Amino acid sequence: MMAESLSENEIRPQHLKKGQEERYARDVARLMLNKPNFVEVNCPACDRSETEQAFQKLGLEFVKCLGCLTIYASPRPTFEHMCDYYANSENYAYWNQYIFPASEAMRTEKIFKPRVDLVIDLCRRFNINPGLLVEIGAGFGTFCREMASRNYFQRLVALEPTPDLAATCREEGIETFESTIEQVDSADLLGSSNKIDVIASFEVIEHLFAPTDFIARCAQLLPSGGLLILTCPNSAGFDIETLGALSSAVDTEHVNLFNPQSLSLLCESHGFTVVEQQTPGRLDAELVRDQVLSGTFSIENQPFLEKVLINEWETLGKPFQDFLTANKLSSNMLIAAIKN
Ligand SMILES: [Zn+2]
Repeated sequence: MMAESLSENEIRPQHLKKGQEERYARDVARLMLNKPNFVEVNCPACDRSETEQAFQKLGLEFVKCLGCLTIYASPRPTFEHMCDYYANSENYAYWNQYIFPASEAMRTEKIFKPRVDLVIDLCRRFNINPGLLVEIGAGFGTFCREMASRNYFQRLVALEPTPDLAATCREEGIETFESTIEQVDSADLLGSSNKIDVIASFEVIEHLFAPTDFIARCAQLLPSGGLLILTCPNSAGFDIETLGALSSAVDTEHVNLFNPQSLSLLCESHGFTVVEQQTPGRLDAELVRDQVLSGTFSIENQPFLEKVLINEWETLGKPFQDFLTANKLSSNMLIAAIKN
């Protein structure tokens, strides 16, 4: 997987960027109408309240937990505001209508095939029964479709609360519930299966008002020996640590920016044993380089970064990214945990 290169343009085509940014700006403006009602929260990983200022972005304040170093938005929109945001998001409708279809082939090749390989590999390594896999936040349905093509699991179920995206999943023939994991009825979810073997959730937990409720619900639904697989941004990775608020991983939707240790802690506190921590992300170096080239981020007086990211990019860029990926230093991470 690491041998493959990946560029941002392949998964978010340049010519669609402007349309997406305009819609996102309107979503943010709508979200911020509720700012007087935003609520302060404790650390979403360790529940402590001692923090220091991290950064501000798009009107949202981010703090860093002094206990586990999770960076999180507080005050933040309430659970109800967030539900409304996703149900009515122009940005998500645009992704569903334009960006996902335009980048689908490339996303399948560069992101979802490796992801499916990884999930199957984890299941084999940890002797997980290939019965029922539930994907939380299935989006455009690409993971489920690719997984279905492998004929590995007996049954795949997608949960997707955003109406347009849920409709797309259904059109793809995927068994879909237009719901969150917190709200879905467990008997409906189980259907003809006697248990859930795997819960997978890619790039979801960073969006949630209460990640602890989400993990608790996963723990409740999974039997002992069941596998939970999560991916999300890693705030201790190169892209986010270098760029801070300028990182594209920092926005009004990503209200929880965990690190491998803090997300592991959260899983462990709900009765999971973490069996795998990885940072499979492959875009860090390019994302920082792009901001240097466009002038939004300066690496003046940082000759090391200038050498790796600019002057000797052709030879050093890829091995540098490979190093970040291999050493848990990428800003995109994966955690696998088994229910005790
Ligand atoms: Zn914490």
